[in-house]
Amino acid sequence: MLVGLDAGSTAAKIVKFENHRLKGYRIVESHRWKELVKNLRADEIFSTGYFRKNVPHRQAITEITSAIYGVRHYFSDVDVITDIGGQDTKVIDLNTNRFLLNDKCSAGTGAFLELVANYFSIPLEKLGTMHFKAKKIAEINNTCGVFALSEMISQLVKGYKIEEVIAGMHYAFARRISELVPADSENIVLIGGVVKNKGVVTALSDILSKTLKIPKEPQIINAIGAAKYGLEIMKREGGKGR
Ligand code: ADP
Repeated sequence: MLVGLDAGSTAAKIVKFENHRLKGYRIVESHRWKELVKNLRADEIFSTGYFRKNVPHRQAITEITSAIYGVRHYFSDVDVITDIGGQDTKVIDLNTNRFLLNDKCSAGTGAFLELVANYFSIPLEKLGTMHFKAKKIAEINNTCGVFALSEMISQLVKGYKIEEVIAGMHYAFARRISELVPADSENIVLIGGVVKNKGVVTALSDILSKTLKIPKEPQIINAIGAAKYGLEIMKREGGKGR
């Protein structure tokens, strides 16, 4: 057995591979990562993510490498990977080998969506479905943490419904992300936990006027990539039975 462990800033993800096949995965809050590696030996683990060096590992792999390996597991045509995680958004342009990172004032990160969900007592998973109930979109310009929140509140005071304000927030969020994506890129793949929010995805697709590719479970792609990279290394080293 070989595992990919993505020790991310917000969530820890593990994927298990047996005989080159994905056998299962688990996602927990990042501080609970130890639960994922119980009964595993360090030499079975290829780690990635923000805390990749803080967890047991045979090799720690950067998030850029793991994202590329993980996305290629699902898609052969890829120009740009956009990874929207808990604390930052990363854009990898495979054609130019450029890498962009946005980690400023929670703009365009999962932490911002969590702040909004907590403040309005809406389960995080419901933000996406609320988006599609909006009959109009409230204008939100700021995505910088508390400033965006106060803008959302003032739109509610003016009479917009909560779903219209949430939809407006998703558009503001997506605008922030779209600024990082190269304008002429064709095959854009979205990964990361935030991509489970269909409101964000729809807003981003609208703004970019592009169809976006999304793997079935976008939050485990870097863990899959770390495992795939590990499988390649083991093969090169002549490892058997993995
Ligand atoms: P990291 O690797 O930085 O820890 P992840 O890619 O695991 O980040 O994404 C974590 C973020 O995903 C959380 O901040 C949360 O906002 C978002 N998220 C996780 N599950 C869902 C869900 N079901 N719906 C919407 N957002 C989600």
